[in-house]
Amino acid sequence: MKLNTIAVLGGGPGGLYAARLLKLSHPHAEVTVYEHGVPDKTFGFGVGLASRTQRNLRLADEDSLNAIVAVSHPHEMSMRVGDAEVRLAHGELLAIGRATLLSVLQTYARAAGVNLRFGERRSAADLDADLIVAADGIASTTRTELAEEFAPEIAEGEGLYLWCGTEFALPSAVFTPVTTEHGTFVAHAYPYASDRSTFLIETDEQTWQQAGFDESTRETKNGETDQISLDYLQEAFAQPLQGNRLIGNRTKWLRFRTIRCRRWYTRNVVLLGDAAHTAHYSIGSGTKLAMEDAIALDRAVLAADDMDEALAAYEAERRPAVNHLQAIAERSMAWWDSFPARTSMPVEQLMLAYMTRAGKVTVERFAESAPQVANPGLAAFAGVEANDVPPPAAVTAWILDQPLAAGEHRFAARTAPETLRTASGTVQIEISVRPWSHAATKLIVDLPPATTYWLTGPDDREAALDRLDIAERLRRETGAVLVADLPRRFRADAAGAVASGRVDLVAFTS
Ligand SMILES: Cc1cc2nc3c(=O)[nH]c(=O)nc-3n(C[C@H](O)[C@H](O)[C@H](O)COP(=O)(O)OP(=O)(O)OC[C@H]3O[C@@H](n4cnc5c(N)ncnc54)[C@H](O)[C@@H]3O)c2cc1C
Repeated sequence: MKLNTIAVLGGGPGGLYAARLLKLSHPHAEVTVYEHGVPDKTFGFGVGLASRTQRNLRLADEDSLNAIVAVSHPHEMSMRVGDAEVRLAHGELLAIGRATLLSVLQTYARAAGVNLRFGERRSAADLDADLIVAADGIASTTRTELAEEFAPEIAEGEGLYLWCGTEFALPSAVFTPVTTEHGTFVAHAYPYASDRSTFLIETDEQTWQQAGFDESTRETKNGETDQISLDYLQEAFAQPLQGNRLIGNRTKWLRFRTIRCRRWYTRNVVLLGDAAHTAHYSIGSGTKLAMEDAIALDRAVLAADDMDEALAAYEAERRPAVNHLQAIAERSMAWWDSFPARTSMPVEQLMLAYMTRAGKVTVERFAESAPQVANPGLAAFAGVEANDVPPPAAVTAWILDQPLAAGEHRFAARTAPETLRTASGTVQIEISVRPWSHAATKLIVDLPPATTYWLTGPDDREAALDRLDIAERLRRETGAVLVADLPRRFRADAAGAVASGRVDLVAFTS
């Protein structure tokens, strides 16, 4: 399809990358990015770019990816609870300052011939172009103005987070909780330059209120930083901060907003990146999704004969990948919201629970890639020495073969005997609610007392993972033995859940 004019609303990673790719594919078109901010004055600190993302960006545009990698900061990952720390050597994790990433993408967009207009706030309705790309971020006015067409749904997370930074490079990324007199705060922190680290700190509503942050949030004007919270957290996280200060950049407590839209385009206006969809920061994918959208949009426009066909093809290609990541992100968000309840686990087992939390990584794959962490985690679960853990290909069967002693119950392995289903003291529950919903809380509160809860429900994977997540809540809140029905094809999920303490026993149904 031939385009003469392309207007891009928003000069974030999605908009700038889309503008460059589209200009390279349509050298005769006039491509303009309208960005209401000015260069070098952006929000936020560093963002992470995982290895898979790098591969996709390399295939689409090797030059800009090389420039991004050259100014990125590689790091490993670690988890620290109290004095116990476990480190995961992970060769391909990169982080980059948001301002640095934008500066590289601005340079490459300009080099391709894109016209960048800063300090210009525009609306899709004001623009006259063959294609209008609305990459105007999580608060997209395009999405709001055309809400009838896009039908957005916005779900707010329960927990609160605050995005700040510090002026030194941590030795590795670290997840670390700190408990104060008001409750638990968890930092997700990672270095992104030789003198900078991101510190993303989250907490639950009750702790937030008890620490008085509801008030400090109210008193912090938009565009300012909540210094009261930063001072408090700087003291609480003094150890990982190694005496450095926390710095803000329009930093205040927020609840994560997951955006979903029923449609991503109307006529010649198309949503891209955070404007179309968001996924919780704990899977570090927002920038990746925005840039991968840009790749798909460019390809779809190049291949199609008309605008409707192009934008339909873009949406059809990206929607499954976005839905998949949003499902993982939702589970990950819930896992982090309930993180303080798991901090009594040995830290290696906690890392195992973290890696398998959203159904993306199996224990076998984790054991293959990081046996030095996975094996002590599995040993802690089974109460054996790390040397006694079998090779990765055998761990799934080995986990399910471990015995269990729970109260007066003794089980030879982690597959539940059928007689337990109807034994006295067992309550069977058909699960049809999301694990972290109010309906799940009500279900748990209304349950009759039992020594065993046996969870049943549909056969699809999301429903199976939901049962395992509810099992963990119930197990923690009731102390009963938890059994979940699972189709046999989800053996790997069953093993991950058993080894991570989400469920005690499983029953394979088909
Ligand atoms: C706490 C937190 C941590 C995160 N950590 C990570 C991470 O580790 N890894 C990762 O990949 N992602 C991370 N993200 C997500 C990431 O920041 C976003 O997903 C990403 O920036 C989306 O890119 P975008 O181009 O769609 O939108 P944005 O980056 O938001 O850019 C939108 C741009 O549009 C401009 N704009 C808005 N309206 C208009 C208008 N009307 N006219 C002109 N300009 C306009 C804005 O000024 C802005 O520059 C994190 C997000 C949060 C909240």
